[in-house]
Amino acid sequence: MHHIDTVVIGAGQAGLCMSYVLQRAGREHVVLEQAQALEQWRSARWDSFKINSPLAFSRLMGQRDGLPDRQRGLALRTILGLWDDCIAQRAFPIHEKSKVVAVEQAPDGGFRVHVEREAGSHVYLARNVIAAPGTYQLPRIPACAARIGPQIEQYRVGTYTNPSTVRAGSVLVVGGGQTGVQLSEELAQAGRRVYLATSMVKGTPRSHRGEDIMFWLERTGLLATPKEELTDPGERLERLPIVGSDHAISHHCLARMGVTLLGTLRGMSADGELALFDNNLDEHILFAQQGYDELIGHIEDWIARQDDVVRLGFAAPVAEPEWRPHQPLSALPPPTELNLRQAGIHTVIWATGWRADLSWLLIDDVVRALDTHGLPQACDTPVDGFFWLGFHWLRTRASGSGAGFHLDAPYIASRLR
Ligand SMILES: Cc1cc2nc3c(=O)[nH]c(=O)nc-3n(C[C@H](O)[C@H](O)[C@H](O)COP(=O)(O)OP(=O)(O)OC[C@H]3O[C@@H](n4cnc5c(N)ncnc54)[C@H](O)[C@@H]3O)c2cc1C
Repeated sequence: MHHIDTVVIGAGQAGLCMSYVLQRAGREHVVLEQAQALEQWRSARWDSFKINSPLAFSRLMGQRDGLPDRQRGLALRTILGLWDDCIAQRAFPIHEKSKVVAVEQAPDGGFRVHVEREAGSHVYLARNVIAAPGTYQLPRIPACAARIGPQIEQYRVGTYTNPSTVRAGSVLVVGGGQTGVQLSEELAQAGRRVYLATSMVKGTPRSHRGEDIMFWLERTGLLATPKEELTDPGERLERLPIVGSDHAISHHCLARMGVTLLGTLRGMSADGELALFDNNLDEHILFAQQGYDELIGHIEDWIARQDDVVRLGFAAPVAEPEWRPHQPLSALPPPTELNLRQAGIHTVIWATGWRADLSWLLIDDVVRALDTHGLPQACDTPVDGFFWLGFHWLRTRASGSGAGFHLDAPYIASRLR
């Protein structure tokens, strides 16, 4: 047993932000990390991965690196190098390979945090717990994957590395969010025949009027939108939108590259030969386009409300070529069945999303306050001293991203027991 003021669960960007704030406030704490600090970035990305938020939104709190705020598209190795330098300079109290397996309330009103380490198990008695275990923790793979025979290789984010390691032949990418579209683009550019099972995901410009979209989201107040103003509850699940790291991606540009776009993967035939799709590609294309247009409209409305000096300071709008409509895309409905063998598909890549792992949470009042998807809804919980950090829409639209951790961590610090 070890008495401590505050335990932070998870050394991702969110947990490290929290540690920075606690350090500066002189609060005794420990950051418990089941693997290595920033583990998700080390083990759940692919070789060509580039971070898509400009540096202004992807720095760890307090990070000094001398690079411009507008630097974007940094290679994974580069951004990890910057983060590791920052971790080393700040000497955060991180305990790696320390998996939190249970958190329960202690009779004195504090918390018992049970940890498993190589050396054995350990219990912290903490006055406060701040849980930042990440939204994107465990890959979500549909059950129908089990029907696919061994002649087809299956990958997911974390096992896919690059096109040269993928078996010769065509590839079926399942999932049309950010990961699915980026991997489809990479494989098509490497000369692979790619089939993409799309999803209902909003499109996003990468840039507008010469400025990265993240700066527009910040400038126009969208990032700071308080959760009380969330009108569409579906947005709480905020899937990573259709966008590239340093350029736009759309259904249209993928189709121009030769990617065959399909509706949602509904399942596999019992013998695993046929992949079955919904007839909803048109809906997905429309939804993506509407999301894209809404965002541009929001920015343009904001610009129109500014005075002449501000308004004239922005570059003229130039449409992103990736979003130029590709007419043949809507000419014919896509097939709703695909015989994998006949299509020459030797590989399936699952880009079907993630789920959080809160299996360690044994406090009924906190569990009851989770939403219908099992996700936290606020930094505060019904239990004094227990807080969430890093999930979508905890306090603002930014809460689930690097742009919001910096705002939510000081708030939590001000609420600690
Ligand atoms: C494929 C992919 C690409 C992305 N690309 C970008 C991008 O380009 N730009 C961007 O801003 N965002 C991107 N994101 C989103 C990004 O991951 C999040 O915005 C942010 O990094 C999440 O930080 P976090 O600290 O909340 O979670 P995580 O980075 O997941 O950190 C949580 C940490 O908690 C640890 N942990 C979990 N459970 C336990 C436990 N029980 N005990 C101990 N430790 C535990 C985990 O090991 C992990 O290290 C991407 C996400 C994915 C999935």
